[in-house]
Amino acid sequence: MGGPALNPVVVLGATGSIGRQTIEVAERLGRPVVGLAAGHVSDALIGVAAAHPDAAIAVANPAESHDLPPTLAGRIAFGPDAVLELAGIPGATVVNGIVGSAGLPPTLAALAAGNEVALANKESLVAGGPLVAAALERGGSLIPVDSEHSAIWQCLAGEDAATVARLIVTASGGPFRGRTATELETVTPAEALAHPTWEMGPRITIDSATLMNKAFEVIEAHWLFSIPYDRIDVVVHPQSFVHSLVEFIDGTVKAEVGPPDMRKPIQYALTHPGRRPAPHPAVDLVGRTLTFETPDRAVFPCLELGYEAGRRGGVATAVLNAADEVAVEAFLDGTIPFPAIARVVERTLDGFPEREPTSLDDVLDADREARHRARRAVRDEASRR
Ligand code: MG
Repeated sequence: MGGPALNPVVVLGATGSIGRQTIEVAERLGRPVVGLAAGHVSDALIGVAAAHPDAAIAVANPAESHDLPPTLAGRIAFGPDAVLELAGIPGATVVNGIVGSAGLPPTLAALAAGNEVALANKESLVAGGPLVAAALERGGSLIPVDSEHSAIWQCLAGEDAATVARLIVTASGGPFRGRTATELETVTPAEALAHPTWEMGPRITIDSATLMNKAFEVIEAHWLFSIPYDRIDVVVHPQSFVHSLVEFIDGTVKAEVGPPDMRKPIQYALTHPGRRPAPHPAVDLVGRTLTFETPDRAVFPCLELGYEAGRRGGVATAVLNAADEVAVEAFLDGTIPFPAIARVVERTLDGFPEREPTSLDDVLDADREARHRARRAVRDEASRR
C-alpha cells in the first residue's frame, strides 16, 4: 500500500487566500512547512513566519529589504529569483497559490527541480500551458488544487482515460447569474466582489462574476487531463456542492460532492492518494435541491472567449489572461463598466499574432504586448462613458 507522500511543503503566495488555508491544513496534518513566499513584507507574513521558525522566506518585491523584524532576519531573501529558489527546494510539495501570471515561473522552476506542484495558480496553465506540458515531460508532477479539477481528478482515479466521454465543470454562476446585459452595465465593484458561495481573493471573485474564471478552468482542465476543448462542458450549479463531474462512454457519470470549502481540495492535494480526517463535515444531501443549468453565453461572453483562445492555442490564452488582468483592474478602480471587461479582452485577442511559445520569454513578450493593447482598449472604453 502506498501511503500519502509526506513531503515537506513550500507555500507560494503564503499570505493570500489559498496560502493561508494551505498553512492551516499543513499545520493540522503535521506537515513541515519549509518555505514561505509572498509578494510583500506584511504583518500576515511576519505572523506566519513566526509560527514556522524553520521555514525559509522569500519576498518577490526586491525593494522591501529594510527595517526587518528579528523573526525574519537571517532567513529571508528578496526578488523573484528568491521565490524560484524556494520552488526548487529538493523533494518538496510546492503549493502554488500565487495570483496571476507571476505564478508561471515558479511552477516551471519547481517542475525543473523534479518537484510535485500542487497547483492553485491556474494562470500557470492558462498563460503557459505548452511550457508546463514540456516541463512535465522532463520531470516533476502536477496535481490540482482548484476545487473543480480536484473533483475531476478524484472522479478519474482508477479509470482508463480512453473511456472518458466528457468533463463537466460546474460553475456557481457568480453574483450576477440571471441578470441581463443591460443590468450589468451599472453593477459596482462591491456587488461583483460579493460572491454567493466561495470566499476568494478580489481578482478571482471578479473573474467568477464574468465567468472568465470558468473559462480559465476549462483551459486548465484541458492541460491537466489532456482532453480536447469540445469534450469539456460547463454547467451552472448555483449551490456549489457538486464540484465537477466526469461522464464515461457507458453513460456513467461520476461526481465529487462536498462543502464549498477550499481546505478540502487543499487537504486532498497534500494527502493523496490517501485520505485523512478533516474538520469540515460532509454535505448532507437529504432535503437539498441541487440545480443545473446552461450558462448564458450571450450575457457572459468571457466564457466563449476562453474557449476560442483555448482552441487557437499558442500564446492566445496568455493574451486572454493578461488582457483580463488589465480589464479587471480597470473595473475595480472604476475606470470601465463591468461588461467592458469582456470587450477589452475581445479587442486584445482580435488580430493578435498567433505563435507557439517555446520559452518563458515568448510568453512574457505576449503578456507585455497584450497588456499594452488592453490598456489602449481600456482608455477607449473610458472615453466612451
Ligand atoms: Mg475553481
